Amino acid sequence: LTREGFSAIPSVKWEDVGGLQSIRDMFEWEIIRRIKNPKCYEGLGADLEAGILLYGPPGCGKTLIAKAVASEAGANFIHIKGPELLNKYVGESELAVRTLFSRARTCSPCILFFDEVDALTTRRGQEGGGVAEQLLGQLLIELDGADQRKGVYVIGATNRPDVMDHALLRPGRFGIPQYVPLPNSYERGLILTALGRKKRIDANVDLMAIGSDSACKNFSGADLSALMNVAAMEVVKDNWNSRNEISDATPWTIKEIHFKRALEKMS
Ligand code: ATP
Repeated sequence: LTREGFSAIPSVKWEDVGGLQSIRDMFEWEIIRRIKNPKCYEGLGADLEAGILLYGPPGCGKTLIAKAVASEAGANFIHIKGPELLNKYVGESELAVRTLFSRARTCSPCILFFDEVDALTTRRGQEGGGVAEQLLGQLLIELDGADQRKGVYVIGATNRPDVMDHALLRPGRFGIPQYVPLPNSYERGLILTALGRKKRIDANVDLMAIGSDSACKNFSGADLSALMNVAAMEVVKDNWNSRNEISDATPWTIKEIHFKRALEKMS
């Protein structure tokens, strides 16, 4: 496995995630409290589904929220991309899946995050289909053996749930499908606020108003993150005067005008 198969506790906190409140609540109950207070769950039959599937358009926080779950639970996080597992010879991909789960068990509690999980199942019957079929088979075995993988929590992410093999979506496997939508106007403000925590933003800037601006109507979280960066670059450029000298107007902060220019550039 590549570097990506290694585990660490991520540094993403809930406050870094804007919006997505109902998904956060679901993860609180399903995973975080379960890890922190296992006794409350034992003996009730309140068993966890083998896996939770996050689906929806790109850049809306699927990876971010999975990392925040691990971090808030104090759990390790293993990030694996579906296509990487496919990039193997017949036989090796099976081993890769087994190794992945066994590594996750040794560092439990652990969140095993399968990004682009649809890639594991769309190639059945096509070239390279042998690898995909073996891989899927092994993945199903691991998911079905949920009681033997105590402390390993599987989260999958995809932009294409429609092309996924139904065997994976059955209850007991990725049995909790959760749609991660594009943010609405209010949520865009919350995302900008979360992203702005690590930036120097002028006190007069109203991030909620920028989020509700029709100019960023269909922006994803990733687009809003790009907007922040473009606005920050505008500040950097402003700090050089016409003779290409650094101006001494400190402290430099991102102001309304920088967001305005950034929005013009991005539209
Ligand atoms: P993909 O389907 O392309 O893998 P994704 O849904 O996993 O996308 P992320 O990788 O989580 O998207 O998001 C990309 C970046 O966009 C994040 O690193 C973050 O900077 C920003 N972002 C997206 N959604 C949010 C959010 N809800 N709150 C804060 N930042 C967000």
